[in-house]
Amino acid sequence: MGRLRIKRIGVMGGTFDPIHTGHLVTAEEALHQFKLDEILFVPSGHPPHKEDRESLDPESRYIMTVIATATNPRFRVSRMEIERPGPSYTIDTVKELRRLYGANSEIYFITGADAILEILTWKEPEKLLREAMFIAATRPGYELRRLEESLPQEEKERHAVAPRVLVMEIPALAISSTDIRSRVREGRPITYLVPQGVREFIEKNGFYR
Ligand code: NAP
Repeated sequence: MGRLRIKRIGVMGGTFDPIHTGHLVTAEEALHQFKLDEILFVPSGHPPHKEDRESLDPESRYIMTVIATATNPRFRVSRMEIERPGPSYTIDTVKELRRLYGANSEIYFITGADAILEILTWKEPEKLLREAMFIAATRPGYELRRLEESLPQEEKERHAVAPRVLVMEIPALAISSTDIRSRVREGRPITYLVPQGVREFIEKNGFYR
């Protein structure tokens, strides 16, 4: 009898305020480049590093993520972080996914390179780096050295960060949630930058005005 095949799960972590085409291209490219079986989008409930700006409420960010991913059979969305009370720590999400998917699975946590630069300041970084692989999505021209140099050498070795972080260049990440929010506020178009259903949902609810 053959051995059980390891299931490779991509986990797209983000605030998704709002989700946009750049995120969708990132997820599809990760699926392809790293031969993942599926992508689970996990919108943050209460982003831990964000006291400066109020994000849209978690339920609305979740609904937009569902609308954006609904037609892709390999994309799913989890309510895990929006239902967990307190700040959304990635380690808690990874532990919960490990329990759900079991030993025959590998977790690839996909997020923006700027977020991953800070990974050693996240909760339980050593455990986190043992439990999952990380895919840092960047726009072309991003100084990859910044990622490499973000830690002093001895720290890098102590935490063994480098071998656990993979990098992926995504031209579509010229699109950003910050730009979409300013466009809405200034009455400029967001057509094609977000899926049509997401644009209509933003308009219907008067978000970001
Ligand atoms: P952020 O600081 O808002 O984003 C940093 C950069 O990454 C932005 O340019 C952002 O662009 C981009 N980005 C975010 N998510 C992305 C994704 N899935 N794919 C491609 N680009 C992405 O980051 P955040 O959204 O708050 O946090 C990212 C993830 O890291 C979340 O899952 C969060 O829970 C986790 N995190 C965990 C801890 C912790 O455990 N202590 C601390 C910080 C972050 P857009 O604005 O266009 O998305």
